[in-house]
Amino acid sequence: MKLRPAPPNFGVRFKRVDLRDRPVIAAHHNQVVDTFLATTLGYDGVVVSTVEHLMAALFGSGVDNVLVELDGPEVPILDGSAAPFIEVLREAGLREQDALRKCMVVGRSLQVRDGDAFIKVTPCRDFRVRYAIDFPHPLVGKQEYSWSLNEGTFALDIAGARTFGFLKDVQKLQSLGLAQGGSLANAIVFDDSGLLNKDGFRYSNECVRHKVLDFIGDLALAGVTLQGSFEVRKAGHALHNAFLKQLTSRPGYCAVSIATRVQIPFFQTPGMPPLGRDFPAVGKPM
Ligand SMILES: [Zn+2]
Repeated sequence: MKLRPAPPNFGVRFKRVDLRDRPVIAAHHNQVVDTFLATTLGYDGVVVSTVEHLMAALFGSGVDNVLVELDGPEVPILDGSAAPFIEVLREAGLREQDALRKCMVVGRSLQVRDGDAFIKVTPCRDFRVRYAIDFPHPLVGKQEYSWSLNEGTFALDIAGARTFGFLKDVQKLQSLGLAQGGSLANAIVFDDSGLLNKDGFRYSNECVRHKVLDFIGDLALAGVTLQGSFEVRKAGHALHNAFLKQLTSRPGYCAVSIATRVQIPFFQTPGMPPLGRDFPAVGKPM
């Protein structure tokens, strides 16, 4: 995967450089073709899967415009979190562009349900998420976590949280030919009573933090940054995506305007090395 600078109003786009004609897919919820295990974008048989962790890292770092080149159908899973993406973004540095930043502002409350899973949003001048999960496992159980987007909070609170799974589910998936790359190097894996990863958790409530990460990544497919207070219970990629589609398609629930309150969280983060190195000049992105 290679990240390339892009001009204002470009958004996030994926380019499959391994295919003839190098097709480009916009990172937009209308392009979602699959939400089983991960969020997959596609059209005409061309797919880019597992976009959510990278999308969360871009959203959490205030990156609006970037061309993502891929030489295969999947964003690298790396360690199963968004931390490696934050590292490369910090290393490359970010540049403020000469354009007004757009923001999707929630104007009315909306709730979407699926069984006991739900997502609700209420108007708010910040971007806030409160997420609750409940897994019948002694090391998970009920976890609830509240988070809001501010300078550096994504890198600090969310980026390191890894994907998690249960050994019996992983074995079932692998017998079906899925999750073939799944291992302890890129996921937290639980057996019936414990944790298989020798180094333990990165956060005591790493699972619910990862759910927040996934939710941010799926919501980032709005195509612009967001203002709203989101409450989520026991959801997954499918409901995240269905919710975003409802929010953006129902008249009167949200509007795109110029961002005033949502800051670029990546700049001036205390404790981070200076981001002095500029991107190279923007070339021909497409
Ligand atoms: Zn995930």
